[in-house]
Parts: sequence; structure tokens; C-alpha cells
Amino acid sequence: MEKNTEFVMKIEDMGTAGEGIGKHEGMTFFVKDALIGDVARVRVTKLKKTYGYARLMEILEPSPDRAEPPCAFHRQCGGCQIQALSYEKQLEFKQRKVEGNLRRIGGFSEIPMEPIAGMEYPFHYRNKAQFPIGTDADGHIIAGFYAGRTHRIIPNRDCALGVPQNRQILDIVIGYMERYHVTAYDEMSGQGLVRHVLIRYGFRTGELMVCLIVNGSRLSHEDVLVKELCVLPGMTSISLNSNREKNNVILGKETRLLWGQPYITDYIGDVKYQISPVSFYQVNPVQTEVMYKTALEYADLHGTETVWDLYCGIGTISLFLAQKAKQVYGVEIVAQAIEDARRNAALNGIENAEFFVGKAEEVLPEFYEKEDRAGRKAYADVIVVDPPRKGCDARLLETILAMAPKRVVYVSCDSATLARDLKVLCGGGYRLARVKVVDNFCQTVHTECVVLVVRAVE
Ligand code: SAH
Repeated sequence: MEKNTEFVMKIEDMGTAGEGIGKHEGMTFFVKDALIGDVARVRVTKLKKTYGYARLMEILEPSPDRAEPPCAFHRQCGGCQIQALSYEKQLEFKQRKVEGNLRRIGGFSEIPMEPIAGMEYPFHYRNKAQFPIGTDADGHIIAGFYAGRTHRIIPNRDCALGVPQNRQILDIVIGYMERYHVTAYDEMSGQGLVRHVLIRYGFRTGELMVCLIVNGSRLSHEDVLVKELCVLPGMTSISLNSNREKNNVILGKETRLLWGQPYITDYIGDVKYQISPVSFYQVNPVQTEVMYKTALEYADLHGTETVWDLYCGIGTISLFLAQKAKQVYGVEIVAQAIEDARRNAALNGIENAEFFVGKAEEVLPEFYEKEDRAGRKAYADVIVVDPPRKGCDARLLETILAMAPKRVVYVSCDSATLARDLKVLCGGGYRLARVKVVDNFCQTVHTECVVLVVRAVE
């Protein structure tokens, strides 16, 4: 067998990145876009000793799990890896993936999986979109999404995960650029002006934000663009962000308000948040509420508890918990996020939440090691962690074990590092009590998960 060989194969399994897996002549092949149950003609693209990669050429017998994908670009685009899989099967896949990681990496045998929380309508759920702007071969300005693992823009103003306002806004921005000969940025040469259009929408408030990220500090005829955008229903904030760096980071450091307010407001549950173009904010507000409610339920607060919320971002979980706890302490590495957290606490009249800037694995041990005036060390009834994909630092886990809270609620966006960290906690006197997968990222292979571990020994 060699590269470009074609053969017919039945897909028997699905990998963690959503790819189809099958066997041919004793070799395992990974096939992007193929689903379990497909019989497909595939072409070898890469060969290793015992496995290889192949391209899906033709589906001869479609899997019964296939659904009609609403987006015509779902195969090229890097965003939705499993849009062709029925939503029911997507949920089964995610539940199995989390359970599998807890078993394999965490070494757990009895896993208290609760039913997965899926969405009733798993499209158009994203409150944020960042469209790269470019120029096609004919010189037309395009907006769209990057093709998987590349920076080639696939023109598409109508993402199936985003809100319909995205298209209206992009039509206005591109129409304006064409009329006034405003150029699109070119990553290769570093020339051209408009890099990205960032759009945010408050699902509960209907407020809209547009931020143009430009390789410069101003646009010609800014007033014309503003005039056309500000009449869209809900428009609240229009700004310009300058990014002159030649890199992959989307936002630059300076943002200048062109019209309206510097932020939009939205709610999760009863808590109100002000969101600026640079703030981190969960992208699926409906499922985020489900996730935070689950975290709150697992924390089992009665108004007397002291809670530490580590990796707190703009304080979203902290403020949710503060409604039911005596005192909440949040820790987050990004100073700007902590400013947002403090402002959001004040906005909601929440006085029992205090926030610290720093690494969770440094701030918590420092508070724990030093005693306060009354000779007490930092104390927690409940600790909540919501780390990025790489999971918790070992030093943080050690401190949690030393502090010995009754409950630890672990919110995770990567079940592999979650399983690794739970193994440490459960090796140190905790018991795995509840696991709930929450599907915040429908049509993609990513998922969120909320886990409760309780102290097993006194
Ligand atoms: N709980 C928040 C944010 C979760 S995202 C929410 O639900 O909105 C994870 C957060 O951890 C990010 O805000 C990131 O800036 C922060 N972070 C990353 N490494 C960190 C560290 N070592 N210590 C503290 N915070 C960290």
C-alpha cells in the first residue's frame, strides 16, 4: 500500500477529534468526516507503520447516524467537526468520551454519570463571532472562517452556530470597505487594514457589539460606517481595536470607542455582566446557565459557607455562588478580568465576593500558609476550579488536599486533564460523587463537564 491508494472500508469507531476509524489489511486508518457505520471509498494521505490517514472520497453506504448538515462548508471549515452526525449521537459520543477518560486516565471504575445536558436547538447558540477579513483571488473582500488547521479564509457570512445579525453586520462592513476602498489585511505581507470583525450579542438583552480589528489606528469615513451600523436593532457598542503586530493574536491592546457604550450587558441567571470587546465570556449563554446551575447545586450552599473560586475569569461563577454563600474568593491570572469581576460584583450589589489577581497555584498556597491576625489559615468549605484545558497545577491540588474542603466542584473543558486531576484528589481522600456533561459546544467535539468530589475521610 502507498500514498494515494484507494480502497473501500467500513468505519467502526470514532476518535476523540471526531474522525472515523476503520481497519484495512491489518492497518488502522483515521478518516476525517467519516462516521461510524459509513461504508466509504477512501484515499490514503499518510502512512505510518501500523496506521495511516485517509481522505473520505465517496460514501457508498451512509451511516444511519448521519444528519443533514445545515452548513454547506462544514467539511472545509475548522469549526464544526461533527455537524454531519445526528445530535443524539453527538451527545452519546461526548458522554462516552468523558466516561472513557475518567476510566482510562483517572482509573475510576464506578463513575456516577448523570444524563448529559444537551440543547433543544443545537444551532445559532454562539453569542460571539470573530470573522477574519481577507481578499479573494479576484480582489473581492471576503469574510468567513479559517479552513481546518490553516489560515485560508472560506467565505461564509452565515455561520450555522452564530446569530443572524452576523450576516447583516458583515454585509454593511464589507459594502462600506468596497465603496471607500478600505483594504483587508493580508497575513503574509502584513499589508492592508481590516483584520477581523468581532461581533457579540447579548441573548437576554438583545444588545449588539461590533469591534473592527485593524492594522492601524483609524478608518477613512468612520462616520459613514457608524451611521450604517448604529441603526441595526440592539446596536449598543461600536469600536475599533488596533493590532499592528504580525502574529496570530486577534485583539491588540488599544480599543477606541466609535459609538455608544464600551460594553454590552447580558445576564446569566439573575446575575448581570458587562462585557467589553476584550473580556472573556462564555460563548453559549444558554448552556452556561445550565453549567453554573449544576456547579451551584453540587456546591450545596446554605449561606454559611466560605468558597474559593479558582480560575474565576470575570467572576461569572463566583457571583453565581455568592448569591448562596457567606463569602466567595475568586482568583484569576488576568488583571483586566479581575477588574471586570469587581465591576460586575458592584453592578449586582454583591458585597460578599472578593477577587485576587495571580496564579491560582501561587495565590491559594500563600493564603493558606500565612495566618491572619486571629491565627487562622485560609479556609474553605467548598472549592470550585474551572481551569483552562491544561488543567490544575500540581501545587494547587496539593493545597486543596491540605485545606480539606468538604466539597470540590471541578468545571472542566478537557476531560483528559480533568481525569488526571481527579485521580490526585481521589487518591488524597476524596470520593467521586457526581459527573455531568454539559454540551456547550454543539456540532464540535468539545464539551464542558461539571464534577463533584466529596471528602471521604474526616
Ligand atoms: N470561570 C470563568 C473562566 C474560566 S476560563 C468562566 O466560567 O467564565 C479559565 C480562566 O483561567 C481564564 O480566565 C484564564 O485567564 C485563567 N487562568 C489560566 N491560568 C491560570 C492560573 N494559573 N491561575 C489563575 N487563573 C488562570
